[in-house]
Amino acid sequence: METTDQLAGIEISTEKEELICYSYDSSIAEPELPRAVAWPRNTEQVIRLAKYASDHNISLIPRGAGTGMAGSSVPVATECMVISFEKMRKIIDINTKNMTVVVEPGILNSTLQQELKYLGFFYPPDPASLNISTIGGNVATNAGGPRAVKYGVTRDYVMEIEAVTADGTLINAGGRTYKRAVGYDLKNLLVGSEGTLALSTRIRLKILPLPQDVLTLLAIFKDLETAGQAVTKILSSNIAPRTMELMDRLSIEAVENYKSTGLPPEAEALLLIEFDGISSAVQQEAETVIELCRPFGGDIIVAEDDAARDRLWEARRSISPALYHIKPSKINEDIVVPRDKIAAILKDIKKLSEESGIKIISFGHAGDGNLHVNIMTDKNDPEEYRQGLAIVKKLFEITLNYKGSISGEHGIGITKAPYLEMEIKKRELELMKGIKKIFDPKGMLNPGKIFC
Ligand SMILES: Cc1cc2nc3c(=O)[nH]c(=O)nc-3n(C[C@H](O)[C@H](O)[C@H](O)COP(=O)(O)OP(=O)(O)OC[C@H]3O[C@@H](n4cnc5c(N)ncnc54)[C@H](O)[C@@H]3O)c2cc1C
Repeated sequence: METTDQLAGIEISTEKEELICYSYDSSIAEPELPRAVAWPRNTEQVIRLAKYASDHNISLIPRGAGTGMAGSSVPVATECMVISFEKMRKIIDINTKNMTVVVEPGILNSTLQQELKYLGFFYPPDPASLNISTIGGNVATNAGGPRAVKYGVTRDYVMEIEAVTADGTLINAGGRTYKRAVGYDLKNLLVGSEGTLALSTRIRLKILPLPQDVLTLLAIFKDLETAGQAVTKILSSNIAPRTMELMDRLSIEAVENYKSTGLPPEAEALLLIEFDGISSAVQQEAETVIELCRPFGGDIIVAEDDAARDRLWEARRSISPALYHIKPSKINEDIVVPRDKIAAILKDIKKLSEESGIKIISFGHAGDGNLHVNIMTDKNDPEEYRQGLAIVKKLFEITLNYKGSISGEHGIGITKAPYLEMEIKKRELELMKGIKKIFDPKGMLNPGKIFC
């Protein structure tokens, strides 16, 4: 790529070794080499990169840490440059009076959590990838996480986004106030837009005071469906756990084979349930849940201290990496159903697995009705892989029949784009494509994502 004064001082590489590193994410999307990778260090450099790309008809692929599960930061086969935000990772401001924080997009979620913890605050969205994913990526995918069952998802905490559009114009969406009712909500349009509308350069987020107490329980069940029924029972019993994470037997086995964390080997299903708040309320809620689990045969282990709690969360966060050790090209879907349909869809998934003879491993944010359904196929076995893709279609049909959605948090990217029209009707799709055209008339920003 020809560099000009327009790009002076911006770190850019066209070395093949670098291009390979930016050609894939954590999904099954086929890797594709970009023409160049740029690492801007500030908003002014992002503006210059966008103007250069627009002048030279080069597409831009925004990228956080590449942990996306739908191929949304994978280049497509056009002239394109990856803009990696990993060097824009500063905390600009923490305002404890207003309970807000302003960050650059490349900061890791866990780095922000750590800094806030010193000051007695926290940022609720906690994707299981929090140690490896960026706030910019979290905003662009509207990431959820275990705590979403009580606190909501990324969109609920984004107040303001400074962003650069495809032609290099700087815009500001949202504001500094907790409430705002001024025109269309551009900020909420940018959240979850998977880098197809604008490049975020600064993000203002709401933060909350750290809760006084946290209590973690592990509920052990003899079968998966019963665990699903317990989820519905607990959530309809007027208590608000902050997490309600499900692990099936195969995910327990996978984690224990990957790095032994001491999960009960006899369990068919586990629920990782956590409460936070004032100590007395936390204790009371935990006791209620223990009682509620009893009729479902749920035995309870209470995490006695921080070390025990950390071990349980380490196990939960290890599931995804552990599964890659079984089938490196497994298909990972993140369907979501109304919460009272969790037990029913778990039964359907079991049937899909039995009928096809293909292992399906389910875990995830059961409290939100959001399951990570892992269809354990290998791309090197074309017949098995074809069968895996057929299961995906059936899974989406079942999900939509329950009035669910084909993605709870990973987004559409490349891998789910062929299925978008199963869920989104013609007129709504036209409106979405119209919005994309207004932001990016030449279609230069993250092409090939969301829409086929
Ligand atoms: C082990 C593991 C566990 C996971 N657990 C969860 C979970 O619990 N919840 C969840 O929601 N997801 C989870 N994910 C998926 C993934 O971590 C999230 O989608 C995350 O938000 C992606 O962040 P990233 O920084 O890696 O972004 P990338 O994957 O690099 O990019 C994601 C999207 O963001 C866009 N983007 C990035 N930066 C910008 C920017 N500055 N401006 C505009 N667009 C931008 C990209 O173009 C792309 O569309 C998990 C992934 C892994 C590997």
